[in-house]
Parts: sequence; structure tokens; C-alpha cells
Amino acid sequence: MKYIIVGIYHTYIDAHLAMGMLEDANISCVLKDENTVSIYPGITNAVGGIKLMVAEAQKERAIEILASTENETAAERICPDCGSSNIECITATQKNASWLSAIAHAVLGSGSDDSICKMYHCLDCGNEFE
Ligand SMILES: [Zn+2]
Repeated sequence: MKYIIVGIYHTYIDAHLAMGMLEDANISCVLKDENTVSIYPGITNAVGGIKLMVAEAQKERAIEILASTENETAAERICPDCGSSNIECITATQKNASWLSAIAHAVLGSGSDDSICKMYHCLDCGNEFE
């Protein structure tokens, strides 16, 4: 059976969260380079992160599930300057995070109740972008 990469993660925890979501949906998946990254976290970039792989037949469903959680992880983001996926969220807005945002939320009637990452920081080149 042919396996396809559907996600790349820079930490063991992120990789396992994603893997758990797919397994909950009865999609069988494997992690590649997990041991390397776990034992030598410093070389995560050298091996390109932990690859989450699924059987080719389940690829589309897996990507759909992972995309639905995109707001919770910056794993899918790419730096516009250097193309790196080594991105972290630096500013997130959350509903009712403060009285001010609660009022803004009420006045503007924003449709989303989820926390959204507003700004990202590239760990490779230091670029910050929305
Ligand atoms: Zn960059």
C-alpha cells in the first residue's frame, strides 16, 4: 500500500494530536522520522519534521480532517518570505478574551467564536506575517 504525506509537524505532541484525530476517523496512519525528532529535537529541521502519512486511498479525507483544525495549529502555514513551514502563532484573538474584545465582538457581530491566529512568526528567517 502506498503512503502519502498529509502533514509535517515540528513537535512530537503536534504529530500525535493530528494522528489521533485521523485514527478517531478510522484512518490508519503512520509517523515517519518520529524517533529521530523525539531523540534529537535539535535536528527537527534537518530531517524536515515528523511526517504524518496515510494510505493513498484515504488521503483526501485525511487532508479534510486536518484542514478543519487549521486554526488550532500553524502547521499548514508557509512563510511568504522563505517558504518555510516552521511557523509559530504569536498573536491569537479569542472570543471574550477581555472586556474590550467582548464589546467589539458584540458591536461588530463577528461570526466566529473560535480563537484565530492573527500573526505568525517564521522560526527560520524571523519574518512576521498575517
Ligand atoms: Zn521565513
